[in-house]
Amino acid sequence: MAASAMNQETPETTTKPGEDIDYNLFLDCVHCGLCTSACPTFVETANENDSPRGRIYLMRAVTDGRLDLSPGVRRHLELCLDCRACETACPSGVQYGKLIEPFRISMAQTEGQSKTDDWFHRWILFRIFPYPDRLRKALGPARVAQRLGLDRLIETTGLIRLLPKQLQQMIRMLPPPVPDEGVLPEFLPAVGTRRATVALFTGCIGDVMFRHANWATARVLQQNGCDVHVPRDQTCCGAIHFHAGSEQPAREMADQNVAAFPLDKFDAVINNVAGCGSMLKDYGHHWTDGGQAARAELASKMKDVNEFLDELGLIKPQGEIRLVATYHDACHLAHAQNVQEAPRNLLAQIPGLEIRNLPESELCCGAAGSYNLTEPEMASRLAKRKMRNIISTKAQAVITSNAGCILQIAKEARAEGHKLGVFHPMELLDCSYRGTDLPDN
Ligand code: SF4
Ligand code: SF4
Repeated sequence: MAASAMNQETPETTTKPGEDIDYNLFLDCVHCGLCTSACPTFVETANENDSPRGRIYLMRAVTDGRLDLSPGVRRHLELCLDCRACETACPSGVQYGKLIEPFRISMAQTEGQSKTDDWFHRWILFRIFPYPDRLRKALGPARVAQRLGLDRLIETTGLIRLLPKQLQQMIRMLPPPVPDEGVLPEFLPAVGTRRATVALFTGCIGDVMFRHANWATARVLQQNGCDVHVPRDQTCCGAIHFHAGSEQPAREMADQNVAAFPLDKFDAVINNVAGCGSMLKDYGHHWTDGGQAARAELASKMKDVNEFLDELGLIKPQGEIRLVATYHDACHLAHAQNVQEAPRNLLAQIPGLEIRNLPESELCCGAAGSYNLTEPEMASRLAKRKMRNIISTKAQAVITSNAGCILQIAKEARAEGHKLGVFHPMELLDCSYRGTDLPDN
């Protein structure tokens, strides 16, 4: 990791909110309101200022100088999950992400009460989460507490409420430990005839909490005739910093990833976490400096693993998995990457697996990157809503393609006392190819 990336946790440049946004993007919105029912925050609050249309209006009014960036205005913009469900719903093609993301960066850079200028962002989100070694060490005491049952003790005795809200959330989110298969090797050869050569993006939190999903992804790719390379110098996609308005470290991470993936060697660069995939695919338009072309080239090779395998043509797995499950659309896969059918197509090929339709499948579960840590109240409302829908299907398990959704839904299931498996699609495919049982989780 470049040292400079670690030392620039607070934004340096100052841009007036909205001034670096192409004004035509605001004008694309014709205020029809067809997006409002798709917006999780509007669905929960019924406040027009918490709708896509309302937020676009607020951002435009601040940009025009007709409205001050008051704490109230900030609040409506900060409450947005950046789930981009409004983009999928909008018939006018409004690119909402290209409005809210740069607007939030400049909000974080302007004087005033930015929610990202606090100890949690500075010391936990920015300095620990993006770095797998630090995160693994930081989680050590929590893992010991889990093994001793102390996490349940502080919850049942109420002691947990003495901790800051974000730490309470982190403790509740931490999944039970799974067997660690170790670091992925730098190269895993294709099984059978080689059909493609790919690189695997392993992520930061993904490498610590979802290494089993990374292993499953690599094995499924091998089974589908892919030589899999795992470049060692890759780093966090930068989404944690970028979405909190700290864009310089995010840019440095992007450039480190550009250097880590020699694109002439690979047919595609594969990721298996929707939030990272969305950020990686957006590298080409986030920054307009001299590195833009190289970042755009990396972005053009990025594929979500579901999307890639569906396009390649899945080699049908043979192992039966007797399970009734439902599929939750991760926002940054369904809305930001427009990948909805691919995971369903892959799962449909697993013998024995029944997938039931999930009501409001495309509505955010409240995870939204680090949103569930920084906006716990709205995140909790959305998690409970998601769980009600899941329970209504009577499924034994939920399948979803985003680490954040897996953590969020599993946490809510534990809190409500539901026995519910929560899996990544690659875990099911891997078990089917290998003829093994699904892990407990
Ligand atoms: S964002 Fe799209 S759907 Fe929503 S009000 Fe604007 S034009 Fe209509
Ligand atoms: S990104 Fe999501 S929460 Fe934000 S306005 Fe759009 S639909 Fe609503």
